[in-house]
Amino acid sequence: MMTAIALHARTSADFDSKLATTQVALRQLAQEHTRASGAACAPVVQASSLGAEDVVVSHLINTLGLDIGIFVLQTGMLHDETLALLEQIKTTSHAPLTVYEPQAEAVVQFVAREGKDAMFKSIALRKACCGIRKMEPLARALDGKTAWITGLRRAQSGARAEVPLLDLSDPVRAKLNPLADWTWGDVWHYIGLHQLAYNPLHDQFFPSIGCAPCTRAISLGEDFRAGRWWWEEQSAKECGLHVAPKDQHEEEISA
Ligand code: SF4
Repeated sequence: MMTAIALHARTSADFDSKLATTQVALRQLAQEHTRASGAACAPVVQASSLGAEDVVVSHLINTLGLDIGIFVLQTGMLHDETLALLEQIKTTSHAPLTVYEPQAEAVVQFVAREGKDAMFKSIALRKACCGIRKMEPLARALDGKTAWITGLRRAQSGARAEVPLLDLSDPVRAKLNPLADWTWGDVWHYIGLHQLAYNPLHDQFFPSIGCAPCTRAISLGEDFRAGRWWWEEQSAKECGLHVAPKDQHEEEISA
């Protein structure tokens, strides 16, 4: 089997310049959002789904020695491969890594009321599941933080084509997308260069990895995010994590 590194690692001509921009942006964010004296944790966090982009960003945070925490949303529906990677990264990360889980009672009630496969019944129920398993824990993870970091890239989907390097549209919290202009080839070049641990599902044609029931492998020529919520219309394919604050509010209400 060809690995994802062998399949995808191709550098852009201007990769060195992109990497330098990413490093400067991360350093600058850490400098602009410093820990208050006596504070238990940094006010900047990386949201990691343990996907290829996220392991790159975490590696940069660690190697640059930045005072930035990392969090993972353990939805209770992740693949075994993702959970194994999480355990591995817990032992190697210098940056503090926090795992957030949904509120157990809310999950139990939702599953009892709507069934284990509720996400396939309607978009509203899928969003409700994402609300309980992702959005509520995300709100806790971001509480008190003044900035956060994602692995969003413009090339991931049409909906992400305008992703800025630094997003200041939310007055509460800055959002840095340090890989905004990286290609998929750049990501895998970096992973191969530094021999980073990654989710083996990437070797099985899962470019974007979320919860197990809602993620499938893609076929040649399919869109990068075609394997996420594949039974829904393209326009519905976000879980709410990366929806603009105004729209996110609407989405939460509709969920
Ligand atoms: S991705 Fe699927 S399983 Fe995960 S929280 Fe959303 S609907 Fe639920």
